[in-house]
Amino acid sequence: MLVKRIKDMDAKEFRIRGKEMVDYIADYLENIRERKVFPNKKPGFLKKQIPDSAPFEPQSWIEIFEDVETIIMPGVTHWQSPHMHAYFPALNSYPSLLGEMLTDAIGSLGFTWASSPACTELEMVVMNWLAKMLGLPDDFQHKTSGHTGGGVIQSTASEATLVCLLAGRTRALKHYRSLPSEGTNITERLVAYCSDQAHSSVEKAALIGLVNIRFVKSDDTLSMRGDALQEAITKDREAGLLPFYVCASLGTTGACAFDNLEEVGEICRKENLWLHVDAAYAGSAFICPEFRTWLKGIEHADSLAFNPSKWLMVNFECTAMWVKDAIALHETFNVDPLYLQHEYSGLAIDFMHWQIPLSKKFRALKLWFVIRNYGVSGLQKHIRHTVNMAKNLESFLRSDPRFEIPAERHLGMVVFRLVGENDITEQLWKKLNSRRNIHLVPASFKGKYVIRFTVTSPRTTIEDIIRDWKEIETVATDVLGYADDSKRTRVPLGGNPQTDLNDMFEFKRH
Ligand SMILES: *Cc1c(COP(=O)(O)O)cnc(C)c1O
Repeated sequence: MLVKRIKDMDAKEFRIRGKEMVDYIADYLENIRERKVFPNKKPGFLKKQIPDSAPFEPQSWIEIFEDVETIIMPGVTHWQSPHMHAYFPALNSYPSLLGEMLTDAIGSLGFTWASSPACTELEMVVMNWLAKMLGLPDDFQHKTSGHTGGGVIQSTASEATLVCLLAGRTRALKHYRSLPSEGTNITERLVAYCSDQAHSSVEKAALIGLVNIRFVKSDDTLSMRGDALQEAITKDREAGLLPFYVCASLGTTGACAFDNLEEVGEICRKENLWLHVDAAYAGSAFICPEFRTWLKGIEHADSLAFNPSKWLMVNFECTAMWVKDAIALHETFNVDPLYLQHEYSGLAIDFMHWQIPLSKKFRALKLWFVIRNYGVSGLQKHIRHTVNMAKNLESFLRSDPRFEIPAERHLGMVVFRLVGENDITEQLWKKLNSRRNIHLVPASFKGKYVIRFTVTSPRTTIEDIIRDWKEIETVATDVLGYADDSKRTRVPLGGNPQTDLNDMFEFKRH
């Protein structure tokens, strides 16, 4: 029997397969509208189709690649689809994909300046570009000596929130330990604050950082206001606790609501608290001057982060984070083993002191490619297009009295529900997702169950929005018909802190 030996992939084959892959990717993205946005699979579906152990003998690329369409794609949620409306966007784009490809080929790690100088320096330049594009105060930019501000690319917004909480904790520990009157149990008395609408990553940061967290009740527009924050801080100080950190949300996950940064910022300055701004989704919109009203008060912030990997068409991972005082980061993360020291240690930036992991990928490259290839004007056009698409859906919903919009639409996200009990809306959501023509996730706030509709893809056209609206309308008719003539079981609204809370503030001790 003749056994054909499979060679390792060499440059000659890579050139062929690489070009085929580029064609496959372009076809995938250009025809993504034809695919059902959500897969029709049950947990464990993949295991049955793949051997339990790795192949001992090499397999041909053709054999491997055939499995992509037959095994992998049927289980993929198509996040780039124009009918993807769940979560927040996680976009890519052709220049970004090319950037990622080159980054992976270069394969250098940028933990110190010397470990790959272009990696560190391009990151500094691009983060300065972005800071200007968003209209951030100069303090957040990398400048020459004597200046402590600057931007860095983190993997995720969650990581940025944690990094800044830890930096704030370092600063607070230093401050309170210098006060003899404060005693010794300082760490366990530290309190972080965020709104009851903040992302779960803020609570997670407090969990990891071993500090208490207080969720400040948001107002009727789901915004954290100065008076509520002040009241919480004052009560805590009276109880002997030590407030140290506030995370303000610009663009919450539930309803894209905005904390009042100006009011919150003034309190943070007065009370000497580290103010971090989480603008993971909405931050991209600040490249358009008309959306910067929510940034009012940003001069009070110590740090800010947003995800170009959400809405700016730079593929995951890419979180832009700025600080005014990088020394607080250094004091938190500085370890200096001999093997990481270099000729310019202390003179050039070593990003390993700005983050939790040692290593970092050359992520600035894809950001640089995207910003240059679209230009600021092209990116602004993309943001404005998304917002317009969301406005269109909003007006369709408003034209139908069966629906209500319980929180104001901001940017590219609309939240809606059917007028009436929560369970009707929950049924609507379940049915919409089970048909797989559009994909959505629910949220709940102030006791209301809502469906979130985020316009994600730049490929979403008005025809797509009309099609999505017809889908929602049809399924609503179906659900309401069913709701009218059968005995419904009430589905309780689970896990919503605001609804069952009699207290003004929820408090978690870690
Ligand atoms: C998406 C999002 C996050 C989490 O982002 P990751 O980058 O996945 O950690 C945090 N906060 C807000 C407001 C978000 O929208």
